[in-house]
Amino acid sequence: MNEQDSLHMKGLLSRQGYLETKDDGEADLVLFVTCSIREKAVQKVFSDLGRVRQRLEDNPQLLVGVCGCVAQQEKENLFKRFPFIDLVFGPDAIKNLPEMIAKAKQEKTKNEKVRILNTQFSSQKDFEFINLVNPHEEESRIKAFVNIQKGCDNVCSFCIVPRVRGREVSRPSQEIIQEIKALVGMGVKEVTLLGQNVNSYGLKDRGELQFSELLQEIANQTNLERLRFTTSHPKDVGSDLIKLFGELTILCPSFHLPVQSGSNRVLKDMRRQYTREHYLEIIQQLKEIKSNMAFTTDFIVGFPSETEEEFEETISLLNQVGFDMSFCFAYSERPGTAAARMPDRLSVAEKKHRLDILQTRQKQIALEKNKAREGKVEEVLVESFDALKMNWAGRSRSNKIVHFPQEKESVKEDLTGKYIDVKVIKANHFSLMGEVFNESTGFRRIHSSEGDRTYN
Ligand code: SAH
Ligand code: SF4
Repeated sequence: MNEQDSLHMKGLLSRQGYLETKDDGEADLVLFVTCSIREKAVQKVFSDLGRVRQRLEDNPQLLVGVCGCVAQQEKENLFKRFPFIDLVFGPDAIKNLPEMIAKAKQEKTKNEKVRILNTQFSSQKDFEFINLVNPHEEESRIKAFVNIQKGCDNVCSFCIVPRVRGREVSRPSQEIIQEIKALVGMGVKEVTLLGQNVNSYGLKDRGELQFSELLQEIANQTNLERLRFTTSHPKDVGSDLIKLFGELTILCPSFHLPVQSGSNRVLKDMRRQYTREHYLEIIQQLKEIKSNMAFTTDFIVGFPSETEEEFEETISLLNQVGFDMSFCFAYSERPGTAAARMPDRLSVAEKKHRLDILQTRQKQIALEKNKAREGKVEEVLVESFDALKMNWAGRSRSNKIVHFPQEKESVKEDLTGKYIDVKVIKANHFSLMGEVFNESTGFRRIHSSEGDRTYN
């Protein structure tokens, strides 16, 4: 979500003549796009802000802004703690960036103290989604995110997102489809639909289609070749969506379905509104429809009062599903959340201990899962070339990173954005290594997505 917000801000700023620089010593404007999901991310922003203060000594006209979830959470407190900050604005104010910057610049040149604060949430009915896709741009992209929803109406007891991103709003389906059409026109092959809980798309507000209908319409109305989405909430995954994996060839066989815990008692306190059994049922149904589906998830360990046995239930769920990969987090107390008021917090050392166990087991399973793909052929959408290693890299339909070497004898051709069949030779924990699959001779290239194929 923050990556996408950054891209939008970059687009808005480039229209005002700003260019990106990797060297903050040369910058006229430094914007921190912040995350407050865990305490560590917040601390990182604070220490980075301390560093940028020194830059002001060389360049007093430098503008410093903090946006995103920490800005939304801390509001004017940020000005008190870091008096040199000029702008503080939340995610809903991104569209106003050009005016905010113009005003800040004007005040700064007059040597006035700049303090622009914009942390109002737009009302649900007035919220506007940003679309900066310009079909005339030269820039070539292979993959893109498309926002379909903002905010979150869930009540997970550990989570700060609803407080910092506001109420859920679904984007009108025609806007989504128009944006995807424009992206496809610019060469984009793969789109990931973005939202905090994509499954509730259109259920409560102005989205006139439900999520599975939206996917169907994207397949019907656009020439997109690969479609993904994130994030799903298990309580809202319906049989209509599960069935679609057997019907829509553009829908890639990978599913990120955060479970958080394998214990029903903990899930209840987390207010996740599903049980372990319900979660496993969804996975089972998806596996029946797509046997090669890759599953990924999010886990939180050390939630208040989580016992050893309850943690063991998380490990047993990991074993039972066999996730290809997971994001594992130690519980972090967030201000104002229901869980922050719960008793029996675990020590940092205990949380770290459980995290290590979970991550070690996940790493083993990831390798086993990847090894099962050795000898198989994966359709890879090529994204980049590593000139040092002479390797191409891309993603399989199951979202695995696949590397393969440049064929020595062949004339080097730019494969970026092409589909190449790659036979997997070696599995690593987080990626696959392969070589171009020669059915007879030369590259076997697919120009449109043909669904899943595996060859032995
Ligand atoms: N909307 C998504 C996830 C958003 S946050 C969903 O419902 O799944 C991404 C992940 O951060 C969550 O899935 C959770 O695992 C983790 N997370 C959220 N709050 C956290 C906290 N207080 N401590 C540790 N991890 C947290
Ligand atoms: Fe947070 Fe739950 Fe909403 Fe995800 S669904 S953003 S975890 S409140």
